Amino acid sequence: LFVTFEGGEGAGKSTQIRLLAEALRARGLTVLMTREPGGSKGAEAVRHVLLSGAAEPYGIRMEAILFAAARNDHVEQVIRPALSAGTVVLCDRFMDSSRVYQGITGNLEQPFIAALERVAVNGVVPDCTIIFDLPAAIGLERARKRSAGPDEQPDRFEKEELETHEKRREAFLDIAEREPLRCRVVDATQTQEAIADQVLAIAEPLLPI
Ligand code: C5P
Repeated sequence: LFVTFEGGEGAGKSTQIRLLAEALRARGLTVLMTREPGGSKGAEAVRHVLLSGAAEPYGIRMEAILFAAARNDHVEQVIRPALSAGTVVLCDRFMDSSRVYQGITGNLEQPFIAALERVAVNGVVPDCTIIFDLPAAIGLERARKRSAGPDEQPDRFEKEELETHEKRREAFLDIAEREPLRCRVVDATQTQEAIADQVLAIAEPLLPI
């Protein structure tokens, strides 16, 4: 079972992924929690380049290809082997983030994004994608308050316009509408407990046991 967590900044994805992992482990399932960009050795190296802004001077196309390179390494080195072993894989961001960040707000043409996606995922598509939805202003406020670890400082992506974040919110909702079998939308303005219950209820019917 492969579940991805998507949404804008400060939507509580990382908390919810941890809570779901705990709930599934308590049921005896083997769970792998991972995240993008990163999740494998090669992809973590690319994450550093992407989030530090080092690739910025070379443009958004270069950036999109780097995200795809990182995703493919993550898929082939970590996700596919885990799924083959029967592990439940929970991933913080995946292909929908590229559709939204590089495609919609990066203004890259859809066929280019779709081609990169095919190469990157190489057949490994999420069984379920949970989209955490909340107004951009609330998400940004939460992201700013978030305690800063070395890798969790407000990065350049978080400094962008509110309007850009609203556009992303709409783009995630649009994906959910187009792919209702894969995607589920969760109202991320609810309490942590209420969201966790909802996330578990979405995952439960998909579990292997
Ligand atoms: O999940 P998190 O918010 O920590 O993601 C790190 C950053 O990478 C985000 O701020 C997001 O804007 C950016 N990102 C991106 N394109 C992707 C995935 C993530 O721009 N495909």
